[in-house]
Amino acid sequence: MTERKRRRKRIGLILALAVLLGIGGVFAVKTLQLRRLPEWMRQTQLENHQVGTMRRIVRVRKNQAIAVAYPHLDHTEIDRQIEAAVQAQIQAFERENQGIQQFSALYADYESCDLNGVGASVQISFERRGAVNGKTAQSWTFDLKKDRALGFLDLFSEAGLKHLVFLTEQRMEAGMTEEAAAAAEQLLRQNRAQLYLSEEEVRVLFPPSTLQEQEDEVQARIPMEKMIGYLDEQTRHQLGLQAQGRIVDPNRPMVALTYDDGPNRQVTPRILDALKEVEGAATFFVLGSRAVNHQDLLQRMVEEGSEIGNHTFGHVDLTRQNASQILDQLDACWQVMEEMGLTIPQRLLRPTFGAYNDFLRATAPYPLILWSVDTRDWAHQNVDRSVRMVQQTVQDGDIILMHDMYEQTAEASEQIIRWLSDQGFQLVTVSELFEARGILLKQGEIYRCAYPS
Ligand code: ZN
Repeated sequence: MTERKRRRKRIGLILALAVLLGIGGVFAVKTLQLRRLPEWMRQTQLENHQVGTMRRIVRVRKNQAIAVAYPHLDHTEIDRQIEAAVQAQIQAFERENQGIQQFSALYADYESCDLNGVGASVQISFERRGAVNGKTAQSWTFDLKKDRALGFLDLFSEAGLKHLVFLTEQRMEAGMTEEAAAAAEQLLRQNRAQLYLSEEEVRVLFPPSTLQEQEDEVQARIPMEKMIGYLDEQTRHQLGLQAQGRIVDPNRPMVALTYDDGPNRQVTPRILDALKEVEGAATFFVLGSRAVNHQDLLQRMVEEGSEIGNHTFGHVDLTRQNASQILDQLDACWQVMEEMGLTIPQRLLRPTFGAYNDFLRATAPYPLILWSVDTRDWAHQNVDRSVRMVQQTVQDGDIILMHDMYEQTAEASEQIIRWLSDQGFQLVTVSELFEARGILLKQGEIYRCAYPS
């Protein structure tokens, strides 16, 4: 070995040692910093880290702690955006706690989701304690190929934007004023609202006080199947998003079949079979007294995408009851479903005999669902008459009334379901129908149909 080579080797060794010491030193400082953090800030909690490598900023001072985790995606512009958002949060936090004696903390954790290798979603959740307490989040959906964030209109149609506003409103307890709904649409259009997309859901984030004054951040979590119909075919394919189960296409005609007075062991399964064949669903306004002995049928309804509504416990005329009697009848019916462990996301009432008055409307805490097509199946019990009634009158947005208690209704339903499907109608639940038409169901209101506007 020449002297030169030996020297080079020695320098190499020293350098390697220095690097190791450096890394070790940084690591030691980081570990020390981590150990000085309050217990609850030491670890990240969220497990969904599909994309990127975790970066952490940890700073501990006498009465202040910062522990922020965020992903590094190895894409210049994307990472610049994420880091800028993180720094902005840290600076705002430091500003608001300047000169304050009490302990203050900023903690952040994140979720990141892979979208078929071509896209990624990131949501960072921040928690602040100190001068200001609260939680906020920041999210993005990125196009990895183009190294940029995607906007709402890059992904959804105009109708999709409106539907996102509607679904957000549906999830807000107090609802939205007309002005707030218009503002929400603008926020989506200008990408001032934020988007997190995964296989299962669409999350829309409206930053604090952008929707209504004095309001916290609004975060709507919407199941993907409710929005996938508003993504164009190509986007859907590129991002590897698939409909999980039945989806309602808002652009195709639809009707809601409804069945009262069941379930019935001989009739209801035949209707469910027919619906299954065309990937359709219906709404069954059951009687609590009958539901009790048909747990398997109710379970099947829910599993196959149909909806269960309330038709009272014992088929009493609600217009002849006092308030507590009305509520007893309705509660007793829901209770049967609760005891079966069924979740009923939207509670609907079909008043017995279609009878209602102002008192019932004011008392029943649910939307009242009537109908626009009456087969009168219970009166004539004639298969052809029921089928003809639907064929001659049905239109997009109708609610059809039948009763799953007669053999003839089972047979008529088999024909009607097949015929409607052949005519291009989607068979949807009452909730799906109004949702697709952007109509918010309100307690005490009467609904008969949802014709396209
Ligand atoms: Zn009835």
